Amino acid sequence: MEKILVSACLLGSPVRYNGSDRLVDHPLMALWREQGRIVQLCPEVAAGFPTPRPPAEIEPGLMADDVLVDKARIFDQTGADVTSPFRLGAEIALETALSQGCRFALLTDGSPSCGTSFVYSGHFDGVAREGAGVVAALLSQNGITVFSENQIGQLAEALDNPS
Ligand code: SF4
Repeated sequence: MEKILVSACLLGSPVRYNGSDRLVDHPLMALWREQGRIVQLCPEVAAGFPTPRPPAEIEPGLMADDVLVDKARIFDQTGADVTSPFRLGAEIALETALSQGCRFALLTDGSPSCGTSFVYSGHFDGVAREGAGVVAALLSQNGITVFSENQIGQLAEALDNPS
């Protein structure tokens, strides 16, 4: 059965920067879990970040379609450049998806790693903007279709209609 790469925080793992989760209570998630389809990963934890950790945002100016993983810069709230470990997390996510044969990923929107439709401004001011995180961008660039937690229905349709 086809597997899906899923952000660990959507499955209830308390791995977000502030130690919280983003659990999605949806019957399809429960079904996919029972079916053994879910490949759970937190790219930031996989890259070695502790939890909790300072929040991080992608440098302003990069939009969804041109978030090139080799150009995106990510800084945490202390001003530290954390681009390199964030890229490592994205590479681990890609390797994991490819090794598990995942054509689809379900990722947490808004994250500088997992965001698929929006990220934050880069100024830690709570302002969202259109854009993608480095994990979503790298997966997309390698042919893996990414969905946000608000697109579970679309993901189910894609699973039912293999191309
Ligand atoms: Fe969730 Fe992704 Fe952030 Fe990990 S990196 S806490 S999986 S949004």
